[in-house]
Amino acid sequence: MSSKLSQEPGSFRVIARGKLGDARIQGALDLSVTRLRDLRLDAWSGLEDVEGLRERAHELRMRVVDDLEGYLGQFQRSVEGLGGHVHRARTPEEASALIVAICERRGAKLVAKSKSMATEEIGLNGALEAAGIRPVETDLGEYILQLGGEHPVHIIAPAIEKTREQVAELFSAIEGREVPAELEALTASARRQLREVFLTADVGVTGCNMAVAETGTVAFVSNEGNARLVSSLPPCHVVVMGMERLVPTLDDLSVILRLLARSATGQKLTSYTTLITGPRREGETDGPEELHVVIIDNGRTNLLHGRYREMLACIRCGACLNVCPVFRKTGGAAYGPVYSGPMGAVLVPLYVGLGNAPDLPHASSLCGACTEACPVKIPLHELLLDLRRDMVDQGVSPRWERAAFTLWSLAWSTPLGYRLTTTLARLAQPLGAVVGPGRLWAAGRGLPAFARRRYRDRPRG
Ligand code: SF4
Repeated sequence: MSSKLSQEPGSFRVIARGKLGDARIQGALDLSVTRLRDLRLDAWSGLEDVEGLRERAHELRMRVVDDLEGYLGQFQRSVEGLGGHVHRARTPEEASALIVAICERRGAKLVAKSKSMATEEIGLNGALEAAGIRPVETDLGEYILQLGGEHPVHIIAPAIEKTREQVAELFSAIEGREVPAELEALTASARRQLREVFLTADVGVTGCNMAVAETGTVAFVSNEGNARLVSSLPPCHVVVMGMERLVPTLDDLSVILRLLARSATGQKLTSYTTLITGPRREGETDGPEELHVVIIDNGRTNLLHGRYREMLACIRCGACLNVCPVFRKTGGAAYGPVYSGPMGAVLVPLYVGLGNAPDLPHASSLCGACTEACPVKIPLHELLLDLRRDMVDQGVSPRWERAAFTLWSLAWSTPLGYRLTTTLARLAQPLGAVVGPGRLWAAGRGLPAFARRRYRDRPRG
């Protein structure tokens, strides 16, 4: 179980309340997620038979989930046949220890990283720092967050809540002179700071958008080109991937890539789509001498055979975040340090156990917008409902909630109890008397007035 993803009960509400009260963050969120959502809708409308493509993507991802061990074995043989190394890690700690050991064996002091939620999931930066190795994020958004000591708040746009002025302040502190809060100046500053990292890093660490079982190919997409530099300049490349991130063939990869960029950023393809098949071969002029793929489980095996297995089809596009009315207001931090929005609300409790993330299944209006936006057709809102059911079955829901529903059920199981409670509610409504936890729910809602006479009491005929 990953304690790195766990949450204190009630923390969602506390963090969300802070974000809701911050007009700057509300403005930034609204602008960015609306833009990403509109770009996706435009891109999907230009795609022939988008429903057919979504069905295909769902089918091929579920084919992998149905025989995950078989595909993982095929992928491992393919990578090793090319001269690469494959490592399997059950927990975040095991994964981090494996990567630290690879770095130490090479005497590495500096690690260049490209954006990877899997490395966030295992807390890799902390583990490297503890071993005296300096990790540097090279994705612009991640680099900004690393300088500020913060976590990503969106899986595609990690620094979505930051303003230019805040970034300029961070960069000025690094450069020791004022960097203007203008896009060109900021990107030039980042380039100056990161160029040296690309050139001198001992090890490059990337994530993996998808890997191909048949060929041992690892694919990653980016718009900044940093992932390509991280994977080709340092002499050793470590890929960190969740164990489910596989497709059977290169043809299948093309289906996912057609949906991934369109759903994430509205592009037909991202600016850089990199496919790595093994380490550098004789006669090649670039690429790492040594390639390691670290495959992490971290709770995924527990999902393989149950109701939630469809969640393993996720391609981490972020489309569900951009349409979710809850995420659009609270932002990502409330969900915890790694996964947010509807996909995070489903995934995190499944990885860490409902008792370690009890707020998340409730972070949804169940409107179904996430399910409609998901390119691989994961029924997200249904899974959230199932999680709520599991919370009740496992006794994880708060005591007051269980007591309230038990009392309600008792009251409405007899005609006398039903009549008594509805009469009381009718009498109390003009007083505006919603009390207890219901008060918060009722605040800002206009409740319809009860009829003066109940339907059952009206004369028939
Ligand atoms: S759940 Fe679907 S929409 Fe959300 S990130 Fe995963 S693939 Fe994208």
